[in-house]
Amino acid sequence: MNLQTPTIKSIHSGEMPLGEYKLRGWVRTHRHSKSVSFIELTDGTSVKGLQLVLDHTVVNVSEIQADIQTGASLETEGRLVASPAKGQKYEFQVATLKVVGTADPASYPLQKKGHSLEFLREILHLRPRSNTIGAIARVRSHAAMAVHRFFQERGFYYITSPVITTSDCEGAGAMFRVTTLDLLNVPRREGKVNFEEDFFKGEASLTVSGQLEGEIYATALSKIYTFGPTFRAENSNTTRHLAEFWMIEPEAAFYELEDNMQLAWDFLVYLVKYVLDHCKEELEFFLGREWTDKSLIESLNKLAASSYEVMDYSEAIRILEKSPKRFDFPVSWGMDLQFEHERYLTDEHVKGPLFVVNYPKDIKAFYMRVNDDGKTVRAMDLLAPRIGEILGGSQREERHDVLLNRMQEMDLPEETYWWYLDLRRFGSVPHSGFGLGFERFLMYVTGMQNIRDVIPFPRFPGYAKF
Ligand code: ATP
Ligand code: MN
Repeated sequence: MNLQTPTIKSIHSGEMPLGEYKLRGWVRTHRHSKSVSFIELTDGTSVKGLQLVLDHTVVNVSEIQADIQTGASLETEGRLVASPAKGQKYEFQVATLKVVGTADPASYPLQKKGHSLEFLREILHLRPRSNTIGAIARVRSHAAMAVHRFFQERGFYYITSPVITTSDCEGAGAMFRVTTLDLLNVPRREGKVNFEEDFFKGEASLTVSGQLEGEIYATALSKIYTFGPTFRAENSNTTRHLAEFWMIEPEAAFYELEDNMQLAWDFLVYLVKYVLDHCKEELEFFLGREWTDKSLIESLNKLAASSYEVMDYSEAIRILEKSPKRFDFPVSWGMDLQFEHERYLTDEHVKGPLFVVNYPKDIKAFYMRVNDDGKTVRAMDLLAPRIGEILGGSQREERHDVLLNRMQEMDLPEETYWWYLDLRRFGSVPHSGFGLGFERFLMYVTGMQNIRDVIPFPRFPGYAKF
């Protein structure tokens, strides 16, 4: 008879009637007595494994016992029954069991005891088998689905922006060069590298943002979003920065800053609710980790039920100046907010997420719409407790002459951005958008404190394994 192979998640959720099944997965723990053996089996779909019960009169355990080790893979047939044991609803009475692949306990690094996140970062190829990294991978997958659902339900089209680009999204960060030139024998002309001989007959890089390309499509399809990898060659060795991260960038024609804020807020609330709904078990697991803020789930529920607060940059500066707190970076109008300032505003002042808007133009990108005061631009950053900036966006400058002026002020070559200016020459419209760092969001919902733990394969200065 061909038995069904349910996931362990579907068993725990009560979807599977009691009866006979086949199960496949890996041993998490095992213990043996004279007459019976217990194995906790995991298939990576759930925080909880399933208890296999091996009655020695049914299964000849002595033959395979040496191979039943943490990390070994198994295939088993038997019967799902209600468990008489405390703390578990189900258990699996094994009829037949086969060890598919062994895992030598002398060399398999993931043993029963908990491992530190630092240690797990050294074994990226095995860490998804740990409960923590496995749970993050599942949350990440659900959250990605939520991103697409949110925008698709609202009529935004998914646009893939190029990974290799010849345009620099000014101000976003340092870029990784893409080249096929022979670095030991670089072609030169007039003392400079001759990129005419490079693959694209010019300089190319990995994208730091899909925004400018997104604007092209927003001024044609009205509402679009991108969701893809972005790259920053900045040497920031922090717990919040990666050299390769995923960004979601919606862009909408006829949206002004207020519409943009509403969209960003609705988006964040949607994502949070989606994760609360679909990843309950994972969130409860995170809550139990020693590094997790005990208000994690409570604060997510609070966010999902609240509306947003907005504060002018100038007001934020006044509050920071008046605060009794001593900051490492002194506060003055015109400076960029540092992490410590962001955290003071969110964690101590408003005690929740906060949009800061209307930043000084000198610390923001050339494409942001200039306010009537001539000094500030229609920028918005959404700051979240614990993690600081979670998304940043703006209303874009749609006036051709003002944009050209800004570009000249900032020494940006018209030859490079002629196409971007063209969008303001032909049917220009007010439009707005933002970028949400997917990993920053994941840190926020999981309570993880190092961004390197919420992406499967982190890249940062000095490190790019696999
Ligand atoms: P920060 O000040 O935190 O470095 P930023 O101002 O450089 O951020 P943007 O250029 O506006 O950020 O990028 C948009 C979003 O992408 C940010 O709001 C953040 O969520 C995320 N982000 C930016 N840089 C990184 C990075 N190096 N690693 C991971 N996420 C990032
Ligand atoms: Mn940055």
